Amino acid sequence: VHLLRFEEPGRLDGLVHAVTGRDLDLSLGADRRVLAGHLGFDGLWTPVQVHGREVVELDGPWDAAPRADAVIVRRPGLLAGVLGADCPLLLLVDPRRRALALVHSGWRGTVAGVVPAAVARLASACGSRPSDLLVGAGPSICADHYEVGPEVLVAVARALPGVPDLVRPTGDGRGLLDLWRAIAAQLGRAGVDPARVERLDTCTWEATDAVYSHRREGGRAGRHAIVAGWAG
Ligand SMILES: [Zn+2]
Repeated sequence: VHLLRFEEPGRLDGLVHAVTGRDLDLSLGADRRVLAGHLGFDGLWTPVQVHGREVVELDGPWDAAPRADAVIVRRPGLLAGVLGADCPLLLLVDPRRRALALVHSGWRGTVAGVVPAAVARLASACGSRPSDLLVGAGPSICADHYEVGPEVLVAVARALPGVPDLVRPTGDGRGLLDLWRAIAAQLGRAGVDPARVERLDTCTWEATDAVYSHRREGGRAGRHAIVAGWAG
């Protein structure tokens, strides 16, 4: 998977996808329409993200967006997306079965296991083998800028035992959490080939000229996205 900026949407055998930046704010309906039109789709479908592990399939226009943090798309002509402003966003593609999943995995979703849940649903619903998957990840906050409290560290340690170098302690039970390392470990444990995982190594907190950061900008932050679909 080649993850490219909005200006240059990537195509892989009918796959249309893009990672957007600050040039669009996808919390806004007007910008969603601009992006969908630019990529050749009628609209952009995004779930109501709730930091859980629910996976839904987009197989037709939604009357109301479901509460979920992962969306599977097989049917051509539908563009789905997940939004973020620090949280890791992933695109999982099975070029063989022509199925894809978009995943939003912040710390709560990572602890809940939304990424492994998406891999499992691709396998059960679409027949995808984890080893066939191509995975792309968009910008997310790096460990240097992601200090969290003891309750987060306890939950992460419980969910991901035995993953080295997840946390650098900073005192008082707090620490710098490497969320991407946690997700990469989940992908590996789910059977995804690390050589087929590609990440845009951009920290949202540092690159607020290019993308949004909730940690840095607070409630004023807009939302960037990974969007993908199959050309109709
Ligand atoms: Zn950073």
